[in-house]
Amino acid sequence: MSTENENNYRTLQLLLNTLYMISETDMNRELITSIFKMRLASILGFTPKVEKCVQCGTTENITHFSIKDNGFKCKNCSKTDTGAITMSDGTRDAIKYTIMAPAKKLYGFNITEDCIKEYKLISKIYLNEKLEKEYK
Ligand SMILES: [Zn+2]
Repeated sequence: MSTENENNYRTLQLLLNTLYMISETDMNRELITSIFKMRLASILGFTPKVEKCVQCGTTENITHFSIKDNGFKCKNCSKTDTGAITMSDGTRDAIKYTIMAPAKKLYGFNITEDCIKEYKLISKIYLNEKLEKEYK
């Protein structure tokens, strides 16, 4: 498959999985939407870096999501990144899972209400910013 076909296939697969979750399960709708947005951004070419701090490379104290630098930031580096959004450990793990998980297991986790709120904010701003920059 060409890259374009493969991306179309991945997008279609994501849509179908998401529709299934909305219509056939009682999973939190805001969590479904957040996962969908983050995964879509990734398929469209904006995969955030979730292995370590995008700025200094540390894996310790990952506390923020940087919109402008596309990924996780540690406590120190986020001090100078005014647009970075605070996230708790649960949100951090959820975003990491969303990026790394195989398509069929994408929706196979749950997080607390507080984490869902953080994830909702991050996924919304991230996808909006990336789409605005690239497709306007
Ligand atoms: Zn750092």
